Amino acid sequence: MPNTNSPLDELLEHTRETALLESTMALLEWDEHTGLPEQASEYRAQQLMLLSGLVHQRRTDPRMREWLDDCESSDKSRDPNSPVGTCIRCIRRDYERHVRLPESLVKEIAHATSMGQQAWVKAKRENDFASFAPRLHDIVRLRREEAALLTDGKAPLYDALLDQYEEGAESGTVRKVFEDLREALVPLIQSAVQGSSSHPSFQDGDFDVDSQREFSRWVAEKIGFDFSRGRLDETEHPFCTTLGPHDHRILTRYHPDSFSSGLLGVLHEAGHGMYEQGFDMDWFGTPVASAASLGVHESQSRLWENLVGLSEPFWEWCLPSARKWFPQLNSLSVDRAVTDLNRVRRSLIRIEADEVTYNLHILIRFELELELIENRLEVQDLPVAWGDKYQAYLGIRPGTDTEGVLQDVHWSAGLIGYFPTYTLGNIYSAQLFEAADRDLGGVDALVRQGEFAPLLEWLRKHIHGYGRRYEPMALIERATGQPISSVPLVKHLQRKVERQIRSN
Ligand code: ZN
Repeated sequence: MPNTNSPLDELLEHTRETALLESTMALLEWDEHTGLPEQASEYRAQQLMLLSGLVHQRRTDPRMREWLDDCESSDKSRDPNSPVGTCIRCIRRDYERHVRLPESLVKEIAHATSMGQQAWVKAKRENDFASFAPRLHDIVRLRREEAALLTDGKAPLYDALLDQYEEGAESGTVRKVFEDLREALVPLIQSAVQGSSSHPSFQDGDFDVDSQREFSRWVAEKIGFDFSRGRLDETEHPFCTTLGPHDHRILTRYHPDSFSSGLLGVLHEAGHGMYEQGFDMDWFGTPVASAASLGVHESQSRLWENLVGLSEPFWEWCLPSARKWFPQLNSLSVDRAVTDLNRVRRSLIRIEADEVTYNLHILIRFELELELIENRLEVQDLPVAWGDKYQAYLGIRPGTDTEGVLQDVHWSAGLIGYFPTYTLGNIYSAQLFEAADRDLGGVDALVRQGEFAPLLEWLRKHIHGYGRRYEPMALIERATGQPISSVPLVKHLQRKVERQIRSN
């Protein structure tokens, strides 16, 4: 019998089958992070290597080009943002990216980043940047080579790297928005930390981990994470993964000596999970039911963690319930809880930073990696440049490279162009919250009552349901009516700093 499937059917079926393989890999990875027996890791690595090879073959299958060519020429008037148009546009984009790089370069990068991570672990442990520098030098050189092949000389090199995580974002735009943010944040942090009080936080104490588990799950359910299509587990480095159209896994980590880190981790990962639960599942396995970008993904986690979870209305609602699990909070006021949870401090370590200083940590990394890619900075000069920027923006300088330039894994893993997506996520989250607040006639009043469904519905309607139908910055502009801007984030952070100054 002749094959009667259209090229579009073939293309979509192939893409959905690739997604089946990828979700199988995701399941194996989830399992690896939730209690794989020690001796099972080698066979698991073989399983994952086989699957990732199969996925790569499918993504670069020459038939993809024929199907795409046929689809593109069969209907030239097709709306590129319709579901079918989105599939063709995004699959073409991903395909070209995969086939444009010669296998030799892909292998070289894989080798360099594997060596890089090993060298980084040792260098961080021994505070020895010099031993890591040659590896990082190789990585930067290879990523520049990769970027040159991808841009074809048509755009700045850094744009090609950024584009892998934030489709369509241009370094010029990001640089401008980040400069505005930096100019607002530096003096803001200065005023926040001046004469900051050192009274002990309510968080200094013992918080029973079983109670944290129950309480965090209860909060995740209340804000709208659907446990009939998902679950919450524990792991060393919290993350979120999707294993199927109705199977979303979030993972966190609880500390007996911290009340908030487990809970905020759950709010963060639930935000990621609710984003993916909001995709149009008829299109599961295609770009229509995929995340618009890392920045948009992060905007969803940060919105629930920071804009909601660290706000006064949230604690007015939440604190009376929290006392059922933690009787030691009986005498804690909402005002004091919110002040303690939002304390602004100068810090050297990104992942320990508060919401206000966090973005400066990111801006420093963005500026430095941009200079590296644009050949304006040599790898060997990184530690000094790092220290100078920390001094200028945050008023502190790391005493060692371990707590400075060696603290993050990203560059050793070849992830250049990735850091800005964290701050883009923060910027988007504040823009979205402001727009939802306007459309819903006040989100605070809803949160104070524990009514989260209207906010979630708003996000479903304006962000989740679109998947990759629009590029991230266009999606944010459609949802909020405004181009990307740091103004809503700065206003939000200013309110935090004013609270801190009031309480001193
Ligand atoms: Zn995240």
